[in-house]
Parts: sequence; structure tokens; C-alpha cells
Amino acid sequence: MEQSNHLMHTYSRLPASFVKGSGAWLEDDKGKKYLDLLTGVAVCSLGHSHPAVADAICEQARTLLHTSNHFSIPKQEQLANELCRISGMDSVFVCNSGAEANEAAIKLARYWGHSRDIDTPTIIVTEGSFHGRTLATLTATGNRKVHAGFEPLVQGFARVPYNDIEAIRLVAENNSNIVAILVEPIQGEGGVNMPDADYLKSLRKICDDNNWLLMLDEIQTGMGRTGKWFAFQHAGITPDVMTLAKALGNGMPIGACVAKGKAADVLQPGSHGTTFGGNPLACAAALAVIKTLEDGDLVNQAEKQGARILNGLQDALADIPGISDIRGQGLLIGIELDRPCRELMIKGLEHGLVLNVTADKVIRLLPPLIISDDECGMVVGKVSTLVKEFLVTS
Ligand code: PLP
Repeated sequence: MEQSNHLMHTYSRLPASFVKGSGAWLEDDKGKKYLDLLTGVAVCSLGHSHPAVADAICEQARTLLHTSNHFSIPKQEQLANELCRISGMDSVFVCNSGAEANEAAIKLARYWGHSRDIDTPTIIVTEGSFHGRTLATLTATGNRKVHAGFEPLVQGFARVPYNDIEAIRLVAENNSNIVAILVEPIQGEGGVNMPDADYLKSLRKICDDNNWLLMLDEIQTGMGRTGKWFAFQHAGITPDVMTLAKALGNGMPIGACVAKGKAADVLQPGSHGTTFGGNPLACAAALAVIKTLEDGDLVNQAEKQGARILNGLQDALADIPGISDIRGQGLLIGIELDRPCRELMIKGLEHGLVLNVTADKVIRLLPPLIISDDECGMVVGKVSTLVKEFLVTS
């Protein structure tokens, strides 16, 4: 199909155009099939065309698409109940995307700071992070490329290296304006960077000691991807604020800012809002996603299939020169090479694989949680062949 000249050139697109999908598979406009290891960047965790999500959307579309947050929205209330049930949190603001969920969290932290007479509330963020593309969330993002050309950036952020508790202690000693830490439990866009096992626990303690909010961006790690509903549950802690989007709607745009305890009632009428956020259609899809994940035991499945793929790749690529590391948790897996490898996204398409390369050198795999045993075998076989071929020819 010819490309439109009327779209802004915000993306350099890969040479494939998908027209349908089913389960873990996508089909392009020429009828070629691809195993989808990107899932719309950690969105379609239930795979494509899942009947429970499709039915929920169709039924809701025939009943009521949208009203307004001027009125109570029963499906939004049900979704808030469900999210609090599975997370142990207390309150939810429903929006449309990850960036908006983080905007809500940033606003919540500032509002809370002002209520404690902190005039320039400041949020600690980390290097290598990704939090979105709005002005505040791109400022929070720890990647110079995302900032470039958009200065002046937003004030009120202090940046520290990821996985570095000492750096945060130093900030605590020198900056009395800190109100919160915003951090990803595993950095996805930054290269599948996994912190030390006690990182989140240490962050929880520092936040408690200093009366700061611990705000976890679970937009990529949440909704079962790492083998628990939320990655913080591996660490045995609970954050004050958590942000979600991506897999929450399995493709229906929806995000959520979820809060607990002292953070739960900070935002009050007039302090924040959205036209579309939490409309009946998006909430119906998210409710179907939660029910399907639960009924199918898919969160445990993510842990099991993730280990199957990770172990398989570690065996298949053991002792291959050029592999720096293979790591992951659940179905968020990274293969780090010793050289840039973005061209693997195109080579993958030639081999019938949709995969992603992030941070230049990390092949990121985000298979759907419904992936079968056979398909896991295919992932290991096809990806390791592709990587080996690339390493001998590059
Ligand atoms: N936070 C994290 C951890 C993400 O991975 C992303 C998107 O990749 C975002 C925030 C931004 O989400 P959205 O693109 O829905 O605004």
C-alpha cells in the first residue's frame, strides 16, 4: 500500500503492514504470517482478536460508548474495584494512555507536596527511564534524545542513576524539596534493565524514612507481564502510586493512575480530569482483560512461559561470542549484544518474526501471555538462529 504524505513524519516505519491477527500471530497485506514478539509494545498480552475482549467491546459499543465524567460510570467503578482488588491499592484515576497516567502521578505528587508547604516539589527520576512524550513525562524520561529540541523542559525533577540507592541518599541529604520517586521496576525502553533484587525494598524504605511517595511506573511491567499482576509484588512491597496503561486494554487505549494510603485522596474535584478517560467502552475492554487473565491463570503462565523462553535462549546462545547478556522476568526478555543491532527488526520480519530492538543493542521480546508451548519453542529456535546469523555476518 502507498504511504500517505499527509501523516506527520513522527515515525520511521518498518517495512510491514499488518491487516489482521489471531492469537500470537499477525498477517500482513500480502498474506504472510508473523509470530508477534512485540505485541504492539507490550499491549496485546491476550494476543490478537481475543474473543472475550472483542465481545466486550462489541456489546458495550451497542449499549453505550461514552457519557462523561460529569456522571458516575458504573463500568469505571467496577474497573477501579478490580484494580484495587488485584493490587492492594485504594483509589484509581482512569485516563487514556501511559503518558497521561504518569502526568496524573506527577500532578498528584506536586499537589501533595504543596499540601505539606513544599513550594517547589521535586520528583526523583532515573537515568535510562522512559515515562512518555508529554512535556512533563519527557522531562521525567532519562534519555537525552527524547528531550532534544523540546527545551525548556519542565522544572521539578532530580535525576539519579538507575539502581543506585546511594545516589538517592545523597539527594535526600541535599534537597528538602523532594516529594516522590518515580521509577520503573524494570526499565523496558531503556534496555530491559533489571535492578538488584532489593532495589524496590530499599526505595520503599527511603520513601518511608523521608515521607516521600514511592511512584512505580508499571505501564510496561504491569498486568501480569513479569509473572505477577504487578512487578512490585515480586519485591513484597506496595507503592503509594502506580501507573498502568498498555496491556490494561489489550489495544483499547486506556491508562490508570492507582494510589494508596496517604496518596489515595490527594486529587479532589477540580484538580484533575479528562473527557475520554474511563469511558464505558475502554473500561469494558479492561474488565474483560482482567477476567480473561484471571480465568486463564495467565499471570502464572507468563512466569512459566517466560522461564521456558529465557532458559531456552540461554542454552541455545550459550558461549556464542557477541552475546553480552540474556535476562528478563516473565515475558519481558532482553538479549543484549555487544554491538548495535537495530537492523534485526527488519531481518526478523524477513524471517516471519515481529521483534524489537531497544537501547540500540538489546533485542526485546514481549510475547503475548497466551503463547503456547510450541510457540515458545519456535521463539527460541527462530530468535537464536536469527541472532547467530547476525553475529557472524555483522
Ligand atoms: N511508561 C513506560 C514504562 C512505557 O514503557 C511507556 C511506553 O512505552 C510509557 C510510560 C508511555 O506510554 P504511552 O505511550 O501510552 O503514553
